Amino acid sequence: MKESTKEMFRLHGWRLDRALHNYLYFIFYDVYVRAALLLTKVVVVLFSRFGATKHIPKFIFERYHAKVLSRGDVGKILSLEETVMLGPDTTGRIIPFRHANKIVLREPTHLAVMDCPCKLEMDDPCQPVASCIAVGKPLVDFWLEHCRKYHARRISREEALSIIDEHRRKGHINQAFFKVATGGSMGVICNCCPRCCVSMRATALMGRIKGAEGISQYVPSGYGVRLDTEKCDMCGDCVPYCHFGALEMANGELRYHPERCYGCELCVENCPQGALALVLQEGGLLPLDMDRVKGWLQGD
Ligand code: SF4
Ligand code: SF4
Repeated sequence: MKESTKEMFRLHGWRLDRALHNYLYFIFYDVYVRAALLLTKVVVVLFSRFGATKHIPKFIFERYHAKVLSRGDVGKILSLEETVMLGPDTTGRIIPFRHANKIVLREPTHLAVMDCPCKLEMDDPCQPVASCIAVGKPLVDFWLEHCRKYHARRISREEALSIIDEHRRKGHINQAFFKVATGGSMGVICNCCPRCCVSMRATALMGRIKGAEGISQYVPSGYGVRLDTEKCDMCGDCVPYCHFGALEMANGELRYHPERCYGCELCVENCPQGALALVLQEGGLLPLDMDRVKGWLQGD
């Protein structure tokens, strides 16, 4: 057995079912994601047909989640030098998921990129397809030993940031994925677009179904935006960058709907006037900000 396979089984301890799940997930990444989307569609259609939408099993959405990340918070994760480990008791205000709720990044200077399974599932995927970034040695080693068919390769911190920025210029958001099968913790940061990303497509599917609107596979970053009306010339350039309907032009004026904002920061980066600024969303979820996490680890 390969060393990285043994390490993965050690990670799950006595939960052999989860270890096997973890193994199959990455070995058949694209097939797994395709099957997950199909299963979601079948469940939604069946429950809707029988008028039982409110009984759609939420477990589908409780075991695989994402946290939207601002560009600044992605940069901090990719700049980590030391292992970070935080359990559910301390992370509840950042990642409020029932089953996937830990921040465990072992030896995070190790980074790898590979093809995104959601994009592989598309006939005409958004480019570049190499979008998923693994953070931490055990996962990176596993990808390099098992996922060559998905073009897994080791990357430097600089290259990781350059991949992130290339995607963001195209309007792709960053999400950190948390999954039961990967030990309930994060380890993968992806560059997601609503056309290809299965978590965004599954959530959009729920949003169209009466009674299932609140079910989502991702949560906000913890930030919102502040508009400087002195600087804004109402050009509307920021609107197409918002995938969540939080920005719209109405009667020649920019309108911001904070309740729809996921704090992805794309609008801030794409305002030619510098009229938008990212701000902490008071009373909401906290950001996955590694400075804050390190502060908790130091007992602040
Ligand atoms: S308003 Fe801006 S920060 Fe909020 S979701 Fe839309 S693009 Fe992202
Ligand atoms: S891109 Fe900037 S200047 Fe243009 S409408 Fe949006 S906030 Fe205003």
